[in-house]
Amino acid sequence: MTQPLESADNPLPLANWNGVIQPLAEVRVPALDRAFLFGDAVYEVLRIYRGLPFQKVAHLQRLQRNLDKLDISTDVQRITARMDETIRRSGVMSGIAYIQVTRGAASVRTHRFPDPAPVPNELIYIAEFTDPYRETRRTGVPVITHPDWRWKRCDIKSVNLLANCLAAQAAHEADCPEALLVDDQNRLIEGSRTSLFGVRAGTILTAPLGENILPGITRQLMMELADRCEIPVCEETLYLNRLHEVDELFLTGTTTEILPIRSVDEQAVGTGHAGPISQRLIDAYQEFVLQFAANAPENDLL
Ligand code: PLP
Repeated sequence: MTQPLESADNPLPLANWNGVIQPLAEVRVPALDRAFLFGDAVYEVLRIYRGLPFQKVAHLQRLQRNLDKLDISTDVQRITARMDETIRRSGVMSGIAYIQVTRGAASVRTHRFPDPAPVPNELIYIAEFTDPYRETRRTGVPVITHPDWRWKRCDIKSVNLLANCLAAQAAHEADCPEALLVDDQNRLIEGSRTSLFGVRAGTILTAPLGENILPGITRQLMMELADRCEIPVCEETLYLNRLHEVDELFLTGTTTEILPIRSVDEQAVGTGHAGPISQRLIDAYQEFVLQFAANAPENDLL
């Protein structure tokens, strides 16, 4: 059975397009917008629990860093205020907030940045989201491997996601919810939209941050939770041909949260079940979310 990473629960998400709140389906993007022509844009996805955006500061700081890397100038505080307002107006209690900032629309199509700089286009939308892993989070999921065909600046959360989409589609066709990206040195970098971790002899392992990997917000939170649980974490690259050495593997991501992997390319990982360290981290993560949500104004629909 195919297990989607995203759920399209709500066909009519509410959008905020450059400050105007409207149904997402009614947003009209100009054809000369550089995101449409060149993928010249960055984005964020935040999880909403009980009507509140989770890990808000970390996501917006990452957005600011990515805007700076691409020399796109805008006001992230204003984006934050618009996001908060759109979440409130949407009434969504369990969902996602998507934010995309493009370099804007130029008067003609040129590869170099337009001069003077166009006004960035800012899209926010809020959609319902229900955890698709309620069942499999405790049993683990199968994954496949796929060549990492992405560009050399995967640390920038840009909307250039074609290589990620191809890997995700290959996983979907193999009835798996995720594909692990393997580079030409046989290194396991991350998933198509998740960070990857292994456990070897009680220590959590994950690839060090660099230009070939996205610095996941959930990756960072998971490392802090591991620290609180006194589970050692080591930034050490995982290799495909040495997967037999790991006892557990798991994914992290904003919507995925923590998800154990039970097999890679149909080869069982460890015992072939979700391992004890993954389970402890899932419990710690859920406890952390509950504490976060306890501060929310409403008390239903986690
Ligand atoms: N790695 C990639 C390539 C991603 O696209 C994502 C999320 O979209 C992640 C990791 C997980 O990042 P985060 O925990 O910030 O959602």
